[in-house]
Amino acid sequence: MDLEREEIEKPLKLYFIHYLAAGHMIPLCDIATLFASRGHHVTIISTPSNAQTLRRSIPFNDYHHLCLHTVPFPSQEVGLPDGVESLSSVTDLDNLAKVFQATTLLRTPIEHFVEENPPDCIVADFIYQWVDELANKLNIPRLAFNGFSLFAICAIESVKAHSLYASGSFVIPGLPHPIAMNAAPPKQMSDFLESMMETELKSHGLIVNNFAELDGEEYIEHYEKTTGHKAWHLGPVSLIRRTAQEKAERGEKSAVSVHECLSWLDSKRDDSVLYICFGSLCHFSDKQLYEIACGVEASGHEFIWVVPEKKGKEDESEEEKEKWMPKGFEERKKGLIIRGWAPQVLILSHRAVGAFVTHCGWNSTVEAVSAGVPMVTWPVHGEQFYNEKLVTQVRGIGVEVGAEEWSAIGFGEREKVVCRESIEKAVRRLMGGGDEAEKIRRRARELGDKAMQAVREGGSSHNNLTALIDDLRRLRDRKVLD
Ligand code: UDP
Repeated sequence: MDLEREEIEKPLKLYFIHYLAAGHMIPLCDIATLFASRGHHVTIISTPSNAQTLRRSIPFNDYHHLCLHTVPFPSQEVGLPDGVESLSSVTDLDNLAKVFQATTLLRTPIEHFVEENPPDCIVADFIYQWVDELANKLNIPRLAFNGFSLFAICAIESVKAHSLYASGSFVIPGLPHPIAMNAAPPKQMSDFLESMMETELKSHGLIVNNFAELDGEEYIEHYEKTTGHKAWHLGPVSLIRRTAQEKAERGEKSAVSVHECLSWLDSKRDDSVLYICFGSLCHFSDKQLYEIACGVEASGHEFIWVVPEKKGKEDESEEEKEKWMPKGFEERKKGLIIRGWAPQVLILSHRAVGAFVTHCGWNSTVEAVSAGVPMVTWPVHGEQFYNEKLVTQVRGIGVEVGAEEWSAIGFGEREKVVCRESIEKAVRRLMGGGDEAEKIRRRARELGDKAMQAVREGGSSHNNLTALIDDLRRLRDRKVLD
C-alpha cells in the first residue's frame, strides 16, 4: 500500500473493534491501517474466522505496529456452527439474531483484554454500546463508527425527531435540501438504530468513511449543530489500496482471479460494461434475479453480475437454473457472472466499467464515487434509501431504478419485484448516451477526482486524520499531566 509509514515519537496506542459484518469490518480495518501508516500502534480486535479474512486482506507485514488480537467467538453459546462469525455468512433471521447475540457475549473477553492493556483510545463499531462504559471506566476517549454517511445520519435523526414511519412518500424536514422520499423506513429498523445512535452521541467523535466534499459542508454543519457532536471524515478508505492485487484482496477471498477479471475487462471498450452487485447481505428471490437477467439483457449492454455462490453450481439442475436465469442466458456470453465474492474495488476502478447497479450500501456507494462511476440506485434495506437520495437528488450522479419496498433486513421475501422494464430503462438512461447520461457521467468523474484529492497530502480527509491524531495526543498528554 502506498501509505506514508511514518516513524514517530510517542505514538498513540489505539484499539479497533469491528462489527461482525463485511460492510462494517472492511472499512473500519482500512481506517485502522491508516492510523498505523502514520506510525501509531494499532491493534484490531477480532474473532478467529474474521481474523483469517483480515490476515489475507490487510498487509500486517508492512506495518510493524499493526497487530491483530483474537478473542474466541461464542459459537456454542449462541448455537452457530464453527466458523460462522459474520452476518455476511447467514441468510435467515434466526442466525442473524445469533450473530447479534454474540456481540453482547464478546463483551467479557474484549473487556478483559482492554483492561489488562489499556490503550489511549478505543475505536469501536456503534453496535458495541457497552464500549461506552468501558472507555469511561478507563478514562480514555472512544470514537464511534457506524458505517453510514453523515448525510444518512442527518436524515435518520430528522425522521426520528418527526416520527415519520408511516408508509408512503414524504419530504424529510429540516435538512439543507428538500429530500423527497418515495418510501418510509420501517419502524423496526428505526427502533433498532435509535439506542445505538444515542450512545454514539456520547462518544468523543464519530468516524466517517466518506470525504467532506461528498457529504457536503452543509450536512457537516447540520450534524454538528443539531447534535453538538463531532464527525471526522477520513475516507474514502478503499483508496488506500492502489495496486490491482491490493484491491482484489479487500474483504473475502475473491471467486475470480485478478487475471480472469482484468483480462475480461481489458477486452472491453471504455464505459461499456455494467457492474451489478448488491453487497454482502442482500439475497434476492429467484423471481427478482430473473427480472434482472431479462432487464440487463434487454438493455443490450455487457455486464459483470455478482450472484450468490450456490447459483449455477454443478449440482443445480437445469430446472432450478431456469427459475433465476432465462434459457441460454449464459451461453449468449454477454457478461461475466461471478458466483460469490467479487473483487469490487478492482472492478469499479477499471476504465471499462460504465455504470454500477447497486443496493446503495454505503461502502459500495462511496467506492463507486471514488472510481467516478455513475450508479443505477436500487436500495433494499437499512439506510440505503437515504444514500440513494444523496446520489440522485443531491449530487446528481445516478438514476433510480424505482425500488420502493424498504425492508428491515437484506434477506427474506419481498412483496414487490422490480420489473425488467424498469431495470432496462434505468440502465439505458445511464449507458445509452445522450445529454442526461453525459452530464451524470461528468459529475461522477468530477466527484471521483475530488475523492482522490481528499486522501492525498493536503486533502480534506488527510488533514482530518492529522487533526484527529493531534486531538487524541492532546487528550493523552493532558491525562499524563493530570
Ligand atoms: N464486497 C465485495 N465483493 C462482493 C460483495 C461486497 O468486495 O462480492 C464489498 C464491497 O466492496 C463493500 C462491502 O463488501 O466494501 C459491502 O458493503 P456495503 O456497505 O456496500 O453493503 P453491505 O454488504 O453492508 O450491505
